[in-house]
Amino acid sequence: MLVHRDRIRRALAVLGCSTPLAVLAGCPGPTSSATPSLAGPTFDAARAWKHLEAQVQIGPRPAGTPEAERTRAYLETQLSAAGLTPVREAFEQATPVGALSFCNVYADLPATGDASKAPLVLLVSHYDTKRMEFPFVGANDGGSSTAVLLELARVLKDDAPRSVSYRFLFVDGEEAVRAHWQDPDNRYGSKRHAEGLVKSGVSSRVKAAVLLDMVGDKELRIHRDEYSAPWLYEAFAAAARKNGLAKHVDGPRERIADDHLSFIEIGIPAVDLIDFEYGPGNSYWHSAQDTLEHCSQESLGIAGRIVLLGLPAIEAKLAPK
Ligand SMILES: [Zn+2]
Repeated sequence: MLVHRDRIRRALAVLGCSTPLAVLAGCPGPTSSATPSLAGPTFDAARAWKHLEAQVQIGPRPAGTPEAERTRAYLETQLSAAGLTPVREAFEQATPVGALSFCNVYADLPATGDASKAPLVLLVSHYDTKRMEFPFVGANDGGSSTAVLLELARVLKDDAPRSVSYRFLFVDGEEAVRAHWQDPDNRYGSKRHAEGLVKSGVSSRVKAAVLLDMVGDKELRIHRDEYSAPWLYEAFAAAARKNGLAKHVDGPRERIADDHLSFIEIGIPAVDLIDFEYGPGNSYWHSAQDTLEHCSQESLGIAGRIVLLGLPAIEAKLAPK
């Protein structure tokens, strides 16, 4: 992704809605019976770490490579083991280096009861790594969020009841093929998925998209991305503050161009839960330093907890009245 440190505003689709904090404050808190982390199985950071190690072991995983395919096979195996049904969304697209094959993988977890009327919430991570001239393994950038999302899928699958449906969406091709992030050379997978949501009419049911990215940093602090819907960011940040995790949220305010923009562009409120300060001056980002030793199991666990603690407020806001 790219951070816009300048003050130039990008024209964006109007966010679908926004909620005053007072409304969120009235939502069921972390002690609600809907709280997955308390009512159901807890997020297992050790499992998430194993998912991270497995991806790094595959090696660099850029779009269109055999390693990307091995990663997809791993995602499918793990989603199936969690009792979910993985779906592939494959497509070819022209890029600055010629046509490349891309493939998103997702699995749906229906709401309890009549899921056809329930809102749909996307939980998203990119699983590709940036193509580099050195063996870039993307432990944090690509690996960490994918590991957390796999474990979230297992935890949420085992939890009930839920008033919204979830889609665990692993997108390909977030990274620019060229060295620099310049539209339209980026977000290939999320843009394609968003297009598909519109074409199929499913987009009207999608009420929020929660993107995770770079959440494995040993010193985890999620930034306040200014493209993100404030009510969605606040759902997670407020839950973190209430549960002793305040130091892991409310990082610098920035505009971060990432996969969430693909959903914002079609009118879906979205949030990017990202720590875009990886190593001194973000120097580990897109570097040979993006390795397991600069990530931690504890950070994966914190990121997972923050998501699980924040989801009840989102469910409460979106649940059919
Ligand atoms: Zn990246």
